[in-house]
Amino acid sequence: MSENKGMLDWYFKSNLLSRILIGLIAGAVVGIALGYGDPGTVKGFVDNTKFFGDIFIRLLKMIVVPVILFSLIAGAASIAPSRLGRVGVKIVLYYLLTSAVAVTIGLVFANILQPGDGMNIVGNEAIKGKVAESPTIVTILLNIVPTNPAESLAKGDVLPIIFFSVLFGLAISYVKDAKDAALAKHAENLFQLINAAAETMYRLVRGIMQYAPIGVFFLIAIVFAQQGPKALGPLLMVTLAVYLGLVAHLFLCYGGFLAVFNLGLFRFLKGANEAMITAFVTRSSSGTLPVTMRVSEENLGVPRNISSFTLPLGATINMDGTAIYLGVCAMFIGYATGHPLTIDQQLTVVITATLASIGTAGVPGAGAIMLLMVLESIGLKVETGSAVAAAYAMILGIDALLDMGRTSLNVTGDMAGSAIVAKAEKELDVEKWA
Ligand code: ASP
Repeated sequence: MSENKGMLDWYFKSNLLSRILIGLIAGAVVGIALGYGDPGTVKGFVDNTKFFGDIFIRLLKMIVVPVILFSLIAGAASIAPSRLGRVGVKIVLYYLLTSAVAVTIGLVFANILQPGDGMNIVGNEAIKGKVAESPTIVTILLNIVPTNPAESLAKGDVLPIIFFSVLFGLAISYVKDAKDAALAKHAENLFQLINAAAETMYRLVRGIMQYAPIGVFFLIAIVFAQQGPKALGPLLMVTLAVYLGLVAHLFLCYGGFLAVFNLGLFRFLKGANEAMITAFVTRSSSGTLPVTMRVSEENLGVPRNISSFTLPLGATINMDGTAIYLGVCAMFIGYATGHPLTIDQQLTVVITATLASIGTAGVPGAGAIMLLMVLESIGLKVETGSAVAAAYAMILGIDALLDMGRTSLNVTGDMAGSAIVAKAEKELDVEKWA
């Protein structure tokens, strides 16, 4: 390709991460400044600039399904079925264990900081109580098998897409070994073609990320303009407890796990940061998936036959940041309404929040809906006009701020798990970690 020589050289030639960070910080400063202004200005700013952030999210979403489909078919076609099974078991165990640890860390910080203690909220601020419907385990399992793969692709349902792509990929690897030489050759070509398609998608991700600094600026400015000052009020403790929990989980749980496998946390963070920031600003694990997959392969050396399976799965079921948030918020609502959670209730929260985090969709704000289910499990019902509903409404008020941090940790957990499983399978390109 010809060299980019033009007016925008200074932009395209400078380091992408620095540009994204500048966008992030500048967005936060502008947003906070606007947030102290009058509501009319904020509204005007949001209405006029929402487009620039939304376009970034749409660009990412545009390639989520093709990225999963092509990488996973190519990945499954190049891995032995028995190994795929082993990778599957390992990654699911890792995801479950780290989520349970995450809730516990959230509860520990909430016990120390006691967010909401002494607030004595009484029921007045009405909010509609929505009870999250929890589907039965049989329905969940059944729905993993698509009745029409094209429909799943069109709707972007990740689990059925994973299921279909893995089978497709495995079948290609069998046909590649067919006795009929011509057929075997076609299957090999098909594999190469799909691999090239996956590669093309990663190339697209790289192109889209060139727009990230601008998208990031507007996304962050809007969140801070709308929510910043609010979090500085009585909700400061909740925000602090959630963020301390996120950082502690990163260092203790991921740092510890990586160290056990002889991998350095700081080297990991250096490779993973682009995806972490994208998750922070888009507040969507699913939307970040193309970036998560690209950096895991290119910067962390996780081979496609592992990352193409573990990362889409993680973006769907592994939400450690959400688990921490659920633990802290359940505690906050207990304190704020004058019913601090007992030890038994906290143990129940560990179980229900772990399950709820699995069920949380990787889209903005999904965790706040699952919080209803966790509260229900410990007898705190969000009913119209109740104190619990008022406390819940306060949390919703700052949800975007909490969502940024939790989503970032959610995808970090997926990347750490994928690197660890790849290392355990002796497939990690350790040179990338040198
Ligand atoms: N936004 C989060 C994610 O996409 C889910 C949540 O709301 O907790 O990972």
